[in-house]
Amino acid sequence: MMRFASLGSGSKGNATLITAADTAVLVDCGFSVKETLLRMARLDFAPERLTAILVTHEHGDHAKGVMALSRRLKVPVYMSAGTAIALDCIADVQVRVIDLHQSFALGDVHVHPVAVPHDAREACQFVLSFGEQRLGILTDLGHVTPHVVSAYQAVDALILEANHDPEMLAVGPYPPSLKRRVGGPLGHLSNGQSAELLSQIDLQRLQRVVISHISEQNNDLSLAESVLAAAIPGHEAKLQINLQDTGFDWCQIQPL
Ligand SMILES: [Zn+2]
Ligand SMILES: [Zn+2]
Repeated sequence: MMRFASLGSGSKGNATLITAADTAVLVDCGFSVKETLLRMARLDFAPERLTAILVTHEHGDHAKGVMALSRRLKVPVYMSAGTAIALDCIADVQVRVIDLHQSFALGDVHVHPVAVPHDAREACQFVLSFGEQRLGILTDLGHVTPHVVSAYQAVDALILEANHDPEMLAVGPYPPSLKRRVGGPLGHLSNGQSAELLSQIDLQRLQRVVISHISEQNNDLSLAESVLAAAIPGHEAKLQINLQDTGFDWCQIQPL
């Protein structure tokens, strides 16, 4: 059985836990080690169970605590060469450089990296599978590419970015350069772009969509939820929110 939970999501830090049989993977660690351990305890997760850390890209909200946590727990870190160079850790013994065109196994979990358009050196996201069960993690991309649409078909659960509402971003407090970055093709998905992705994927197996990386200043939770709900008629009850402070509690993928 595959289970997943979030330690928190948003521009101040992201980290997602996935467990399946004896494997436990952390995707990103944008919190300090102390904060990460506190949040793991909140989820009743024993840190010594961790098998590996996967990193999507070098931005601080995803990578801040990665190397320190890896050393503390003595677990390897998997990331693209570009991310390792950007984090200046390519020679670190704990780092395993991955090829974004190549799937690989981490114990019982199969990892399928997906390259995404984002303003980082070599950003990716991941689809993780355990037997037939597939969990997609998809945040930090400026637009949805055909490669993304095909990689996330028929997932059982999806952790999906709905970062901003374009109008709220336009009139919001960010300086013009940051507005252009966030709303641009290498920035973050708007509610509408996330809805567009949902409308393009096969919903047959879909059990859960966790709305994530929501901007606290340029979005509104109920607005994001309603825009995504409109894209998946009949499946609205599967939507759930991932918050910066509380993340979300364990969610188990049910066998079909
Ligand atoms: Zn981010
Ligand atoms: Zn980012």
